[in-house]
Amino acid sequence: MDGELISVGTEILLGNITNTNATFLSEMCARLGISIYYHTVVGDNEGRLRETLKQAWARSQVVIVTGGLGPTQDDLTKETAASMLGCKLVEDGHTKKRIETFFKEYLKIDSKKIPENNWKQALVPKGAKVIDNDNGTAPGLILEQNGKTLILLPGPPNEMKPMFQEAVYPYLHKNQPEVIYSQMVKICGVGESQVENDIKDLIRKQKNPTIAPYAKTGEVHLRITAKAKDEKEAKKLCKPIVREIKARFGKNIYTTEEEKTLEETVVELLANQNLTLATAESCTGGMLAARIVSVPGASRILKESFVTYSDRAKRKRLLVKKGTLAKEGAVSSKTAKEMAKGGCFTSGADVCVAITGIAGPDGGSKEKPVGTVFMACCYQGDINVKECHFAGDRNKIREYTTVNALILLRDALLQNFKKK
Ligand code: ATP
Ligand code: MG
Repeated sequence: MDGELISVGTEILLGNITNTNATFLSEMCARLGISIYYHTVVGDNEGRLRETLKQAWARSQVVIVTGGLGPTQDDLTKETAASMLGCKLVEDGHTKKRIETFFKEYLKIDSKKIPENNWKQALVPKGAKVIDNDNGTAPGLILEQNGKTLILLPGPPNEMKPMFQEAVYPYLHKNQPEVIYSQMVKICGVGESQVENDIKDLIRKQKNPTIAPYAKTGEVHLRITAKAKDEKEAKKLCKPIVREIKARFGKNIYTTEEEKTLEETVVELLANQNLTLATAESCTGGMLAARIVSVPGASRILKESFVTYSDRAKRKRLLVKKGTLAKEGAVSSKTAKEMAKGGCFTSGADVCVAITGIAGPDGGSKEKPVGTVFMACCYQGDINVKECHFAGDRNKIREYTTVNALILLRDALLQNFKKK
């Protein structure tokens, strides 16, 4: 099945907002096995919206439109789509009730005081399937005509995403003639081009299943997708490719679960061994701690986090030696080591990861250019240190540093488990 996406909104054209709906929907469609051939962005203009809809409807089997379903004058998507398909707009009693309840329960506004233009959202094209919106008042709509499908969804991502996941995804899945099954493999500690290079032969031969690499900051995700008559058959097609990828990347694969994150696997490793963690950060200023804390249940393992930006703080909180800072500098292998060791000592945690580096744009030198980072992991007296050189602006360098610190921690934990 082929499809395309239309994002409606002048704000997107002006660069005021990023078209994250298109990213999300494209990824979802890839999972469903729908080939997306076009992304179009069109402003809140009736004529251009009509043209865009007509063109998409003529060439694609599935057209998904987001935005322009609101109550105001410039929200034209539903009216324009209905008129293109020759459908009348009729009042949907169920939606009208939901709007009333939404205003009463969430906004504490009585039905008599609901702004008149909101009732416009209870009008739906005749024959359309209505998708309830639990986070707003505009319902989603599915229209079918001549074997094609037009789907209209509200623009705000917090409304659109749950509606897609709960209603549209199952609907499209059911309508797919073939079953699509995909398996995720998440790799850390290997660069994007290295991963691509290592599976060049598999990618060249790919047909069914396909292998799609996605580069994330400091990670590479591979999605293996197969089409078959049923799920069992599709899984069987994926299996040998996943096995081969596992053999090639070994312990660099941190999960094959779709939703699992690197920080989750690290927290799990610590929790399974009843270990506690401390973090000691300079240039990342708490980013590592924030990623750890984002995992539910992190309180079981995280003892304390230090943001030690100045030399004085490194000495006072982490017991880094004055001489080390004077001789080697704050950004050095020795300082990172002492920070990690001191972090364990003062917090009483079993493991401490320390980070010190130059995120730029200033502060670099010939010997230690911007992007130079030292990180260390101390675990029961053993200290692993890593020197890294990252490219990019200040934030990119800090993001890369954070991921790499998680990888260093994971490596140390895996190594020590092996020793036991
Ligand atoms: P509303 O009832 O809020 O008017 P709507 O369906 O009419 O909803 P729009 O008016 O087009 O949607 O957009 C509302 C808001 O939703 C935008 O201000 C923006 O924050 C968000 N939004 C819209 N389209 C997108 C998009 N493609 N990607 C990300 N966010 C979007
Ligand atoms: Mg709007």
